[in-house]
Amino acid sequence: MLARVMQASTSHRTAGVAAVLGLAALAALGTQGPAPAAAPFGSPYRVVIDPGHGGADPGAVANGLVEKVLNLEVALRLRDLLDLDTADPLGGGDWDVRLTRISDVTVSLADRVTLANNWPADRFVSIHHNAFSSSAANGTETFSFSNGTTAAGLRDRVQEELLLALGLADRGSKTANFYVLRETTMPAALSEGGFLTSPIDAAVLASPAAWQASAEAHLFALQRHFGIAPYLPQATAPFVYCTAKVSSAGCTPAIGWSGTPSFAASDFVVHCDHVVSQQYGLLLWSDQPASIPFFGGTLCLGNAPQRFQVAFSNGLGNGNCSGRLELPLSSGFFTGNGLFPGSNVYLQWWYRDPGFLPAAPVGLSNGLRLTVLP
Ligand SMILES: [Zn+2]
Repeated sequence: MLARVMQASTSHRTAGVAAVLGLAALAALGTQGPAPAAAPFGSPYRVVIDPGHGGADPGAVANGLVEKVLNLEVALRLRDLLDLDTADPLGGGDWDVRLTRISDVTVSLADRVTLANNWPADRFVSIHHNAFSSSAANGTETFSFSNGTTAAGLRDRVQEELLLALGLADRGSKTANFYVLRETTMPAALSEGGFLTSPIDAAVLASPAAWQASAEAHLFALQRHFGIAPYLPQATAPFVYCTAKVSSAGCTPAIGWSGTPSFAASDFVVHCDHVVSQQYGLLLWSDQPASIPFFGGTLCLGNAPQRFQVAFSNGLGNGNCSGRLELPLSSGFFTGNGLFPGSNVYLQWWYRDPGFLPAAPVGLSNGLRLTVLP
């Protein structure tokens, strides 16, 4: 089945992907604590994640980075990890997660605190990045309202894990009279992952791999804080992430799947719905998630995405959004690409936008993450 589809590949269809590959190089960042607090609550633990700033308030802006964007990137990744951890029967914790914002909107400090206090949450984790008038200031620091508290314990775990994850300078665990730390009625910590005004820190924090590493650091900190061994959850089923680009015909392509991505099963199929008829689809894959602006859309794959296949849609007519691109990914794909049980793979459909506009020559689905099963 795979060999048949590969024969459809021709040189003119691969030209656009060469551009994709050229723009997609990303530096990969390596990712990786004292006696945890006894769990004082029944499961699941209620956690509010607070991505700092948003909307009209960008927070720190320096070296091409915008704090509100980074805060949200880390927060959404942390939410996904906590949800995955809850779904993973093999280890980790049981979490109920709410965010103070899930998009680029303005939210007052009072509303952030009210959301947590009214729930009520068991813990409040605020995610920020730093700035200073001098570019010499750099490093990671994490805050709680006071020392010697449960909040300080959470703060210390976050600081420890962020240092391991990002490898930036250690500015220490500190106290601060921040509104969200003072007014929350549950233990609260606020991380400043690094200084956007520091060229050293900014070079690290610009990478989606760093956002993922930071999210994992917050996950490990919460796990340890509640007496759970640090555990990176595995997806028990593929899940969709990243944002699709609307095509010039107004279609929003959606990645999806059927079957089981395993060596044992041979029924796994990745598809892309809501494309215009007779487009040539190219499936890209990588072992790193990303979120890179690309031709008005988002390249959801990090490192250098590998082009896998060419397929045809079976839509009903130009301008009709009912087309579907479909591709089986058998164990041949996994073995042929050095993947093994436990490997994480990130996939995205790339195809010709029907408008063929120079400014918008490609369609991009959202991304799919899956873990290869035995
Ligand atoms: Zn901030």
